[in-house]
Amino acid sequence: MKIFVVNAGSSSLKYQLIDMDNEQMLAKGVCERIGAGGAIQHKAADGRTYHAEVEMPTHSEAFQQVVYALTKSEASVISSLDEIAAIGHRVVQGGSLFSKSVLVDESVIEKIESLNELAPLHNPAHVLGIRACIRAFGEKTPQAVVFDTAFHQTMEQKVYMYALPYEYYEKYGVRRYGAHGTSHRFVSDRCADLMGKPKKDLKIITCHLGNGCSITAIKNGVCYDTSMGFTPLDGMMMGTRSGALDPSVLTFIAEKENMTPHDISELCNKRSGALGISGLSNDNRDLAEAAAAGNRRAQLALDMQRYQIVKFIGAYAAAMNGLDAIVFTGGIGENNPDLREKICNEISCFGMACDENTNHLRGKEVRISTADSKVAVYVIPTNEELVIARDTLALISK
Ligand code: AMP
Repeated sequence: MKIFVVNAGSSSLKYQLIDMDNEQMLAKGVCERIGAGGAIQHKAADGRTYHAEVEMPTHSEAFQQVVYALTKSEASVISSLDEIAAIGHRVVQGGSLFSKSVLVDESVIEKIESLNELAPLHNPAHVLGIRACIRAFGEKTPQAVVFDTAFHQTMEQKVYMYALPYEYYEKYGVRRYGAHGTSHRFVSDRCADLMGKPKKDLKIITCHLGNGCSITAIKNGVCYDTSMGFTPLDGMMMGTRSGALDPSVLTFIAEKENMTPHDISELCNKRSGALGISGLSNDNRDLAEAAAAGNRRAQLALDMQRYQIVKFIGAYAAAMNGLDAIVFTGGIGENNPDLREKICNEISCFGMACDENTNHLRGKEVRISTADSKVAVYVIPTNEELVIARDTLALISK
């Protein structure tokens, strides 16, 4: 049985086709510049590729290209859309309305749209993707939605509230929602499997470190706290995002530089983080190279990033009153042995040591703490598309 996984952005459309009989990816691709030209890059699992520059005024034309790539191009992997049993969509913001994945119907689409203000760049694009998908695949193919926020809906109110007047929570839903939930769920489940223990008995901290970074405390199998907040800007510093700040810094800079709320949002989301500190790049590889060559600000960005991870781990170990395992995932978490080793050394007080025989591995599922460590440390490559496909399959099998 094949499931088609879609991640629709405002001008892009990423997709994967997954064979659920063996959970192997059959093909993946991306449509870019939707609404301003258009291009598709498609790749079959056996290495065949298809690339085309085609006008894509809307997501509907993009899906027509995807259907062509999947069924007729030189990198086709199926002969007809009938082979696709269902479609699973990634949705960034499910607010307090969705605590699990659901099948799509009109009321679900309306609820996703009702949350547009909480994710203005994402939710409207997801709805465009869902509606275009219905046009491309027809009404009879079931569609499911999997929310980045759903895993975090188990947080207690004392954890998800901001200490602002309560009316803003009631009127506008201002609270912590978190993000990357699909990834945190996947790697924490894998961690419990690898440890051979029921997740209800474990306290795990998962560090999703990529261009966006979030850290989650998972107690007894459910999210207890997470670093991203009302939006993915909260928490630790990231590639271009500032992470948490004293709010007074923003009112101060806005007044000094005569900036609007929109300017401040651009500043914090696009010009801050590792890019803002280094003045060089948002990419950890560039920063590591520059730091090795003596660039002080690149080194500072890396030091700040590591310090903030350590601080979250310490805070969450205290919040859960214990810690059994730490998981690293995401482009940085999976590929940066140096960062992992330094973090293990800096929190050795918890009773862990890095195993140099396994820590040098990149992008592989592996335990990187020594056998006698009290806290186990793992690298677990994330696979959000597989979670979306699994949830979709479970929903249509019901
Ligand atoms: P992601 O958003 O998960 O794709 O992660 C992007 C981040 O992962 C960037 O900062 C990259 O520098 C980092 N990254 C990806 N591959 C590597 C690698 N081989 N070594 C070090 N960092 C990497």
